[in-house]
Amino acid sequence: MNTPRIVIEGCSVATVDAAGTEHESGYVIVEGHRIVAVGGGPAPEDVGKETWRFDGRGCLATPGLVNCHHHLYQWATRGLAQQATLFEWLVELYPVWAHVDEEIERAAARAGLATLVRSGCSTSMDHHYVFPRGVGDLLAAEVEAAREIGLRFHPTRGSMDLGHSHGGLPPDEVVEDRDEILAASEEAIERFHDPSPNSMLRIALAPCSPFSVVPVLLAKEGEIARRRGVRLHTHLAETEDEEEFCLQQYGVRPVEYLEDLGWLGDDVWLAHCIHLDEREVRRFGETGTGVAHCPSSNARLGAGIAPVAALVGAGAPVGLGVDGAASNEAGELGMEMRKALLFARLRGGPAALTARQALEAATIHGARCLGWEAEIGSLEPGKLADVALWRIDDLGHAGIADPVAALVLGPPQPVELLLVNGRLIVEGQELRTSDEREIAKGIASASKRLAERVEATP
Ligand SMILES: [Zn+2]
Repeated sequence: MNTPRIVIEGCSVATVDAAGTEHESGYVIVEGHRIVAVGGGPAPEDVGKETWRFDGRGCLATPGLVNCHHHLYQWATRGLAQQATLFEWLVELYPVWAHVDEEIERAAARAGLATLVRSGCSTSMDHHYVFPRGVGDLLAAEVEAAREIGLRFHPTRGSMDLGHSHGGLPPDEVVEDRDEILAASEEAIERFHDPSPNSMLRIALAPCSPFSVVPVLLAKEGEIARRRGVRLHTHLAETEDEEEFCLQQYGVRPVEYLEDLGWLGDDVWLAHCIHLDEREVRRFGETGTGVAHCPSSNARLGAGIAPVAALVGAGAPVGLGVDGAASNEAGELGMEMRKALLFARLRGGPAALTARQALEAATIHGARCLGWEAEIGSLEPGKLADVALWRIDDLGHAGIADPVAALVLGPPQPVELLLVNGRLIVEGQELRTSDEREIAKGIASASKRLAERVEATP
């Protein structure tokens, strides 16, 4: 391949490999889509290769961060239902989301993804589950946005089929017909899923939550996913209201409900998982079921603090998620590392989670949740070139001798440099693939248009 070699040198390096290798001063070398060398000391001189060198002095190199839970379309409905519980918030927002169309989806996805890459995120999932009729191709719109911004993408074909008239939480007008959902799930895999080793896009299937889908949909989506070799995702154990719903409707707690449907396993990752008892935490570890921990969103909705330290101790992969921007208006993944650490300590004391464990959650464990750990999540030769470089010599971080502590405990900041698949996405803390100001204008007008449309509806 005739691509220039990229050498980032003179920086601290936290590889997040299995041995936890770190270099006080070292280098990362990238060729084409892959990392070819990582080490301490000065970078080896190359012979006869066109090289782009980046002076990383005053910076820390880490793997690009992995976002395990999001609803990009919600970028168009930020700042609403500000004091609501999850169920109150959903009941207020479902009718607004019923008016999302392709143009609003595109504007929201561009804004959400641009924000993510600026916060050091190189791979993101998206959980899209609202598909109003006749409003265009929402999944394609977000896929196009991800291609434009340039990050690795793992969107899910989400769904809801349990409307209010049948005992579900969402109003009937935002749920879909079950057979249509199943056909759309197969179609999404057919159109977009790329299982190849250099893949920039994989699909997963993601019925929305126990209170918005029927058990048979979960079971059938599980069958499709396993037949097609894609992963499964949903929300679980987010609130006590959900627990009560499952006990009333199905006579079991949320985890048992999912397990009975074949939904625990190492090809499944679940968002939130706050209200778990000890036995349930153990089951996550035993089955290798992943957890997308979303501390900001959980705090915004007052949902509780997930037992992250216990889950990590049990051996379950715990990644981080920003969650939808309607319940975490910031939408930046970098700051979730800091919150994960602080919240784990509020629950379990000052030794509950270390700065390095928080970084692992944001990188290699996130990659495990998405089934991508052989290719991303650590800085190692042979892995795909998703690299984040963080400034630690600025006012907010200078003087903290431990670079990982500076990154995780210090103030959240935009990433200095971000490579995804060997491509330069952010440089000098600025997006290089698109125009941030134009994206901001686009989301402002899309949000306004959506609000006007809702207001005009009787
Ligand atoms: Zn969510």
